[in-house]
Amino acid sequence: MEIIRIPRIMREITKNLKNRAKSIGFVPTMGALHDGHLSLIKRAKEENDITVVSIFVNPTQFAEGEDFEKYPRDLETDSEKLKKIGIEYLFYPEAKILYPNGYSTFVNVENISNKLCGKFRPGHFRGVATIVCKLFNIINPNRAYFGQKDYQQTLIIRKMVEDLNFDIEIIVCPTIRESNGLAMSSRNSYLEENEKKAATVIYKALLEGEKLLKSKIKPSEVTLKIQEILRKEPMIKEIQYAGVYDPLTLDELDEKTNKYLIAIAVKIGDTRLIDNMLVELN
Ligand code: AMP
Repeated sequence: MEIIRIPRIMREITKNLKNRAKSIGFVPTMGALHDGHLSLIKRAKEENDITVVSIFVNPTQFAEGEDFEKYPRDLETDSEKLKKIGIEYLFYPEAKILYPNGYSTFVNVENISNKLCGKFRPGHFRGVATIVCKLFNIINPNRAYFGQKDYQQTLIIRKMVEDLNFDIEIIVCPTIRESNGLAMSSRNSYLEENEKKAATVIYKALLEGEKLLKSKIKPSEVTLKIQEILRKEPMIKEIQYAGVYDPLTLDELDEKTNKYLIAIAVKIGDTRLIDNMLVELN
């Protein structure tokens, strides 16, 4: 595996590979790799000739007062994991090379960026869309892989790809969970053992929501039930949002339909955790 730090060199490499008719799968990450990331990388490896993974803790997607400084960074452990899987390239740029002094261009996917997480993380999705756009332009992959864990992000990236005419296939992979149901996340490393245990209530609430929707309970009632389950867990300090939403518009759903998104964002201590589930009735 080669570690590439310079965008111009990364671009040359993938351009040459594509000229030789090699397909390129790309997995953007912020590092502190866990089995969720690795599942995306394995899928990219299966479906492409060459796999590029990026590790970049993107400053523009962190709002003031968020965890940019303390976000876990461990290049050595991450490289070992990537070498073991056997990818060809790790793109590992520095912030000052991607955002030099005077940087002033941002991508904003309007409307859906302001719902759910967007309400609580001002500018977050503008930062995400901007960095993914830049990485797509540098690497120009055939396919890019994202996790359903960040469902809103996948909608925003798909919309950006459509609106800005990228010729890149977006592939969304299932959420990988701990055996107790907790969705894997680099931020889980912030949690104490008792907090981790408390966090399993999120998955329990999703499962209960799924069960109720499948038994044709009205979405607004399911939302109330999910919130009640979460409120019973004393370690949850704040429920930012929790309920049943339209999977395309992300608006709250009152009426029955056949495709629902259950989405949850809570704070346990200072740690913000999100999770979601798609429920389809046929
Ligand atoms: P991050 O490093 O948190 O920016 O995540 C990089 C990619 O991995 C994103 O597309 C995430 O949605 C995805 N990802 C993170 N956690 C999981 C998980 N538990 N299961 C599947 N994909 C995940």
